[in-house]
Amino acid sequence: MPEDLPYTRPFWEALAEGDFLLQTCDVCDHAYFPPAPVCPDCHGDRVSWTEIDATGEIYAYTRQHRTADGFESPIVLATVDLDAGPRVLVRMDDEYAELEIGAPVEIRSVDYAGGLDRGWLADYPFFRGVLR
Ligand SMILES: [Zn+2]
Repeated sequence: MPEDLPYTRPFWEALAEGDFLLQTCDVCDHAYFPPAPVCPDCHGDRVSWTEIDATGEIYAYTRQHRTADGFESPIVLATVDLDAGPRVLVRMDDEYAELEIGAPVEIRSVDYAGGLDRGWLADYPFFRGVLR
């Protein structure tokens, strides 16, 4: 895991409360994920946090049979187009055969149960997608 990235800390603290935050650029109004210290669109460095309903729909999905150390196998992953705009890569709680493109998804905070050393994030939850 990377060393402490203080600009991501508000995201993890909100997630621990069950909330999902996006950053929005104060210059061009672009909403994006993952958090970054500058806007990936215009490189403006004035960004704000916005709490959103973490809902969206599946853009694409896959089942990964060979996984990195610390992850069981297989795992089901999806890219989800959030209703708030950005596309997010999430691990899904649902079975691969249950998913379809365009299916509605909610992203939830979950306790991290994997074996990966998450460094300073060890006490924070992670997030997963689930069909609505
Ligand atoms: Zn911008």
